[in-house]
Amino acid sequence: MNLNINAQKAQTYDAIVVGSGMTGGWAAKELTEKGLNVLVLERGYEIKHVEDYKTAMQDPWEFEHRGKITTVAAEEHYASMFFSAKEGSQFNFTNDKEHPYIQKRPFNWIRGYHTGGKSLIWGKHTYRWNREDFLANTKEGIGIDWPIRYEELVPWYTYIEKFVGISGQAEGLAVLPDSTFLPPMAMTAPEVHFKKSVAQKLNRPITIGRVAHLTKPQPWHTAVGRASCQFRNRCTRGCPYGGYFSSLAATLPAARSTNRLTILHNAIVKEIILDDHDQKAKGVRVIDQNTMEVREFYAKVLFLNAGTIGSTSILMNSKSARFPNGLGNDSDQLGRNLMDHHLAVGARADIEGFEDDYYFGARPGSLYIPRFRNWGNDKKRDYLRGFGYQGGAARADWSRGSTEPGFGADFKKRLTQPGPWKMSLTGFGEVLPDPNNRFYLSPDKTDKWGLPQVVFDADFSANDRAMRKDIMNDGAEMLEAAGFKNVTTYDNPAAHMGLGIHEMGTARMGKDPKTSVLNKYNQVHTCKNVFVTDGSAMASASNVNPSLTYMALTARAASYAVAQLKAKNL
Ligand SMILES: Cc1cc2nc3c(=O)[nH]c(=O)nc-3n(C[C@H](O)[C@H](O)[C@H](O)COP(=O)(O)OP(=O)(O)OC[C@H]3O[C@@H](n4cnc5c(N)ncnc54)[C@H](O)[C@@H]3O)c2cc1C
Ligand code: SF4
Repeated sequence: MNLNINAQKAQTYDAIVVGSGMTGGWAAKELTEKGLNVLVLERGYEIKHVEDYKTAMQDPWEFEHRGKITTVAAEEHYASMFFSAKEGSQFNFTNDKEHPYIQKRPFNWIRGYHTGGKSLIWGKHTYRWNREDFLANTKEGIGIDWPIRYEELVPWYTYIEKFVGISGQAEGLAVLPDSTFLPPMAMTAPEVHFKKSVAQKLNRPITIGRVAHLTKPQPWHTAVGRASCQFRNRCTRGCPYGGYFSSLAATLPAARSTNRLTILHNAIVKEIILDDHDQKAKGVRVIDQNTMEVREFYAKVLFLNAGTIGSTSILMNSKSARFPNGLGNDSDQLGRNLMDHHLAVGARADIEGFEDDYYFGARPGSLYIPRFRNWGNDKKRDYLRGFGYQGGAARADWSRGSTEPGFGADFKKRLTQPGPWKMSLTGFGEVLPDPNNRFYLSPDKTDKWGLPQVVFDADFSANDRAMRKDIMNDGAEMLEAAGFKNVTTYDNPAAHMGLGIHEMGTARMGKDPKTSVLNKYNQVHTCKNVFVTDGSAMASASNVNPSLTYMALTARAASYAVAQLKAKNL
């Protein structure tokens, strides 16, 4: 008898965090630093910061296929093949064959099942949402109103930015609020020219990308072992310097230093265990991904940080007499209003006249063009919301030789010289919430762990498609304003939801439990000790990259959860 009680005690923590990625790292850091004993459950294998970045120092020619992914690997990583997975980084992207999902309508589900999650492979563009982003739904009658406003997030944005370390330039723009910045990265000469021309001719501001790279590390960065970015742009293979922000390099070490953190790998959280007595969660049921052993862990508070689809799947899978359609799903909103950002649409050009200019290193960032459509004095468009661009000008490198005709010594010598300047702009546009854009769990198809497969059923709307046209045309207009040559536009016909890698929604926050799953503190309305603080919580998508907002929401929710625990409300 005693044995059982002791076993349960050994599996009991103050808090359980599901997922060790971008938001899980923040939940772990905040909860441990506030005195809680925390168990992080990570479904993937363990990656150790620095020592497991096996390809980080390899040059392109040292790879068997010069960096290109093989056909076999492409089949295994088909979702991330479009632009992310390469020979040196494919192991940081989830194998779709082993972790299948169903596309009723096309969706690329790009994942990183390992320590650090997608924080190891993200692009690091880091922007605050603006005031209007939290108001647009209610002003336009789209989806539901956000239960919070920009002002409530400001202290949390500032708090996160300082620890993360974001390089960028303050511009004082309402559309793109400034963060707390480290020194900005430099623009190349044609970019400086482009910025001036677009400001003069079209009155649109352009800034250097705001990226989570340490351009001037501060004591709190070096304290967790991080150092300055070396401008090598090999980030998706993992950075031994901790030059960019990841949970592996920053939040998990901070949490570990409290001595209150336990991380268990290969631990696939299957479902939440509900205490029938008080209708609160008492723990989680976990499948070991290698041995299939099923175990239970218990805690007073649960944080779901398994990524938008991952966290909502766990809620959907947690069925009980009280919640026959998934935990917290009285509103039937679980899985609905799946959002993403537009990608794979924009414009390109060749640049003449800067042949004597070059630049330092391989900058791991780009320019940023803030939203200008449906904003300020802009004439109202035939679609709602707007888009921004990431992009830049660089000189083509030796790899251009693989598509240029030629052979022999002269050809090879030419490839040792810098190639022509080219510029490309890629639009990131806001996708509106739509209850019919959704995912659900398959009633009959399971994966090898017996978990129901995710079925995606979502597509761009007429609003989204109208926006894509402006993304192309406005991109071309700006490149032409700078006098660049051979301007072309593109809208990749294979582009669909998921490719923006910013999946959001599916367990939205709201004021009313009848129409939303989470309250203003990311707490499940009807199961108060469960918090969901990743992209699942979003009620709309903005047009800027979302991870900073997820992190701010996570730290805010963790602070609230600890206060509620202390007040014995959880
Ligand atoms: C190539 C790429 C570029 C990107 N660029 C940017 C960018 O420039 N700016 C930006 O803001 N965002 C960017 N993103 C998106 C960003 O990476 C995500 O928004 C962010 O990582 C989401 O954080 P998360 O904690 O929700 O998920 P993740 O960081 O993915 O972490 C989720 C973790 O949960 C684990 N997990 C999942 N299911 C379970 C389960 N059942 N049990 C236990 N553990 C589980 C996963 O293995 C993973 O480790 C990019 C993403 C990619 C892939
Ligand atoms: S560019 Fe900077 S952050 Fe990226 S891998 Fe190199 S040193 Fe690390």
